[in-house]
Amino acid sequence: MSQSVIGEGDDILLYLNRSRTYLVRVEKSKSFHTHKGFVQVEQLVGKPYGARVVSNTGTEFVALKPLLSDFIFKSQRKTQITYPKDVALMVMFCGIGSGSRVVEAGTGTGALTTALAHYVKPNGRVYSYEIREEFTDLAMKNLQRAKLLDLVEFKVKDITQGIDESEVDAIVLDLATPWLVTQHAHSALKGGGALVSFSPTIDQIVKTVEALQQSGFVDIETVECMMRGMQVERGKTRPETLMTGHTGYITHARKALT
Ligand code: SAH
Repeated sequence: MSQSVIGEGDDILLYLNRSRTYLVRVEKSKSFHTHKGFVQVEQLVGKPYGARVVSNTGTEFVALKPLLSDFIFKSQRKTQITYPKDVALMVMFCGIGSGSRVVEAGTGTGALTTALAHYVKPNGRVYSYEIREEFTDLAMKNLQRAKLLDLVEFKVKDITQGIDESEVDAIVLDLATPWLVTQHAHSALKGGGALVSFSPTIDQIVKTVEALQQSGFVDIETVECMMRGMQVERGKTRPETLMTGHTGYITHARKALT
C-alpha cells in the first residue's frame, strides 16, 4: 500500500487549477512562493494527500500526490521528451512489470526512463544508453528528483554498436536510427521479449519495420496515438480547439527464436 499521509522529504503537487500546479518537496521551515502568495509547506506534514492549504493571501491550494506524468512534464529538459500518452502505450506494449529488466536508448531527458523505472520497481532494472554525456547527467538529476535513480544503470554508449545485457525482457527505443539496433536487440532479448520503438517520421518506421522483419521479430505493429482533450460544460461540451497534433509512431514486435 502506498502511503496516504504527507511526510517530510515527500514531494507534493500543489494544485491551484489545471494550468497552475507546482511540484514541491516538503521540508522544514520552507515556504513556497507563487503569484497567489506563499504556502508554508511544513504545515502539511502529517496531513493526508488531498488536504487543502491556504496561502498567506488567502488562496486555496490542494496538496496532491504527484503522478508519474507530473514528474515527466516538470522534468528539466534538453531534448524532446516522450509524452505521457505515448509512454503509457509503450509501457503496455513492452509488457514490463515489477522485476523486469529493460534496455532503453536514448536516455535523452529521461522522461521515458522515469516511467520504465517506476514500473520495474522494486527489483527490476533499466539499462539506459545515451551517446551524449551531458544528457545522461541531466537525466540522472530528473531520476533522482523522482526517487527512481537506484533502478537505472546509465550508459554513455552508442547502442547501434551493441548491447551489453542479455536475456532482457524488453527493449525500448527512442532514437533517430532504430533500424540499426534491431539485430542487437534480437540477440539481447529473451525469447518472446518485446521491442518497442518510437519515431516521429514515417520514413523511420518503414526502415524499422523492414529491419524487424529481417532480424527475426514477429507480431509487428505500428500505431499512432492521438489524444484530443474535451471542453466539458453543460450545453457547450465539445473537443478543445487546440491539440498536440503529432508526436510520433509506435512500432512494437516480439522476438521469435531462430
Ligand atoms: N525518450 C527520451 C528522449 C529521447 S531523445 C525522453 O523521454 O526524455 C533521443 C536521444 O537519443 C537523444 O538524447 C540522442 O542523443 C540519443 N541517441 C541518438 N542516437 C543514439 C545512439 N545510437 N545510442 C544511444 N543514444 C542515442
